Amino acid sequence: MKKKFSQIAYRLKFFTLVLIAPLLLSWGPFGHERINRSATLALSAPLQSFFYNHVDFITQESSVPDLRKYTLNDNAEKPRHFIDLENFGVSDSLPVSLIEAKKRYNEKFLQQNGILPWYIEEIMDKLTRAFKERRKTEILFLAADLGHYLGDAYMPLHTTVNHDGQLTNQKGIHGFWESQLPEVFGDKYNLFIDNAVYIQDVSKETWRIINSTHMLVDTLLQADRQLKQQFPADKVYSIDDSGNPRKTRFNVPIHSPEYSLQYNHKLNGMVERQMRLAAAATANFWYTAWVNAGKPNLDDLDPAYQTKRNKTNLHRELKLFKHGKLFDIKSEKEF
Ligand SMILES: [Zn+2]
Repeated sequence: MKKKFSQIAYRLKFFTLVLIAPLLLSWGPFGHERINRSATLALSAPLQSFFYNHVDFITQESSVPDLRKYTLNDNAEKPRHFIDLENFGVSDSLPVSLIEAKKRYNEKFLQQNGILPWYIEEIMDKLTRAFKERRKTEILFLAADLGHYLGDAYMPLHTTVNHDGQLTNQKGIHGFWESQLPEVFGDKYNLFIDNAVYIQDVSKETWRIINSTHMLVDTLLQADRQLKQQFPADKVYSIDDSGNPRKTRFNVPIHSPEYSLQYNHKLNGMVERQMRLAAAATANFWYTAWVNAGKPNLDDLDPAYQTKRNKTNLHRELKLFKHGKLFDIKSEKEF
């Protein structure tokens, strides 16, 4: 009886979440918002109190780079979110900066194959400069953006030419992995991460992230192929009243609750792990930019009463965070 109830509850929740799901963006707002918020909580004082004064902005702003890409149709924005590693050859010999990359590859090639790792480094430089000059608005915009691109760097399908499984007859896997799964199962994720640490070599670390993420591409695609072989073809997707697969507004077929459950199980925590790693990287990059800027004192960028008032909330949120939960963020709805 209990099992039956939980199955019904799961199906209900599934349809509520998936059918009203917002735009299918990279990670979706669900993932990006949690990555930036967890990262804020992993900072140490005094950087943390400055970031926490603006935690809602940092959280909400996390999806803006995708809005620039989709809503504004900004062409320059598109290649910043991915890199088709297979088309660049051996990673040891790749250019170390965006300027060098632009010298080696023509614009069309980079537009088509992406610039994500180089762009992360570029934003990192800009953030370091903004810290040095203590420019508050710029620090906040750049930090939020950086969290977004690091989030993308932890999404395996952002590092491959087969970004939506289109080459292996698995179209729709991208949105399924990064939006549908976290929206349905994310409230069980443990998003606690340790305190931020300093990165000695930002470029090396960026490429380490990209390469380790890329190694997961085959695993996640293969898990889907294997499951589809065992699964009745008419049960893979959610079906509407006329017998056709339900689709998102972007024409992506929605996977059925049963299929999502089993695929998520097969991934063995991969989505949750990648989200947590992305949050840890974001905190490490922010902290490193601040250290490299000479650890500027940011206290007087906000009125003292604001920092004082937020202290209590921060304390409460840190307590929850120790248990892997985020205050203010509920999986059922956005802010
Ligand atoms: Zn993105």
